[in-house]
Amino acid sequence: MKHPVYILMSLFLLCAFQPASAQSFNQWFDEGVMRLDLIFTGTAEESSYAISGVKKEQFFSGSRTSLIDPFDYGDHKFQVKDAESDTLLFSHTYCTLFREWQTTSEAETLTRAFNHVIRFPWPKASVVVEIYDRNEAGDFICHWSETLNPESIFTDPGNHLVFESLDLEINGAPEDKVDLLFIAEGYAANEMDKFVEDSKRSVGYIFSEEPFKSHRKAFNIRAVKSVSEDSGTDIPGQGIWKNTVVNSNFYTFGIERYMTTLDYKSVCDVASNTHYDQIYILVNTDKYGGGGMYNMYAISAADNEVSRAVVIHEFGHSFGGLADEYFNSAVAYNDFFNLEVEPWNPNLTTLLDFDSKWKDMVSEETPIPTPSEDKYQETVGVYEGGGYVSKGVFRPMIDCRMHTNDAVFCPVCSRALKQMIRHYSDL
Ligand SMILES: [Zn+2]
Repeated sequence: MKHPVYILMSLFLLCAFQPASAQSFNQWFDEGVMRLDLIFTGTAEESSYAISGVKKEQFFSGSRTSLIDPFDYGDHKFQVKDAESDTLLFSHTYCTLFREWQTTSEAETLTRAFNHVIRFPWPKASVVVEIYDRNEAGDFICHWSETLNPESIFTDPGNHLVFESLDLEINGAPEDKVDLLFIAEGYAANEMDKFVEDSKRSVGYIFSEEPFKSHRKAFNIRAVKSVSEDSGTDIPGQGIWKNTVVNSNFYTFGIERYMTTLDYKSVCDVASNTHYDQIYILVNTDKYGGGGMYNMYAISAADNEVSRAVVIHEFGHSFGGLADEYFNSAVAYNDFFNLEVEPWNPNLTTLLDFDSKWKDMVSEETPIPTPSEDKYQETVGVYEGGGYVSKGVFRPMIDCRMHTNDAVFCPVCSRALKQMIRHYSDL
């Protein structure tokens, strides 16, 4: 039970908290996007931020009524406040590859730099931007803050990665839909027809499965024909290096199948050619692999025989904040989930705060934890093993799209995805 002082403090905080109301988008924001390019540097133990650029972009595609992130997922959060009144105007949560790298062995001895980009609607007056990182205890701690005056800062309107964009399926205004954008990676100029076909095939994969299938009208889908000099992608373990538009590679953190790009700035430059809320990087390769970081991007091979499963799985990470439910494959991480805190992902629990997770979906007859027996195959429960470890982390179903390539999303993952769809869309 909460101590009475804490209850009083909570009430006070609720009163002091002044989120921008639904009607107020036009009061606080103009058309366009303020984009901050950032550099993270650090080691396993420490990190710091620096601004590397401020840009004005054309397309803000997010909701104009749901400006405050309601989920509190992710390893990071940023907030935008009106500098004069301290009113909270906008917030967004996300993950970064920097944070993943911090859990690798390399980070214990080496300092590295990664780039990141944050974007929010163009403010009418000075704003305070605060960036929060989640600490060991799972709480967001402010690590960087800066006041920005839209009247007086130099913003770079230029984009050196200008490409043609294509509407694949438009179901409404950008602010009322999940704007999903495919960008081409490792497609040479003469392969753009293939990219468009590959994008359409990937769209077919995502919307062949629930909950996307019955919510297709909540999405707009576009593609940017971002041309690469070379065809394919880097495969460092085989000495293969290609000159491609967003610099993707296999062998991220030493794991062959883990394909990512550390060049998020170029990803955002390519994406800024049109509207987007979510980025899918389609890589012109048939080699098995991919990756997905919450509210950053998903990436995968276009032509592998299990591309369908990978495309849907990685989109579960990047769009839904879903964690991997598997625990039996090699990963690069050390202690990725702290067993002493409840993970933020909606589909894993350490049972420290199960009430905040899917307890309402577990029937009273189902034991907690639930044994992995055949009779529970279709039962939402609490199964030990998930998040890369076999002990101490629990998942909602014996099998799920976030566990193996042959399953579909479990009811818990499906509910989280539907909540996310509703956050972005008018459905
Ligand atoms: Zn699941």
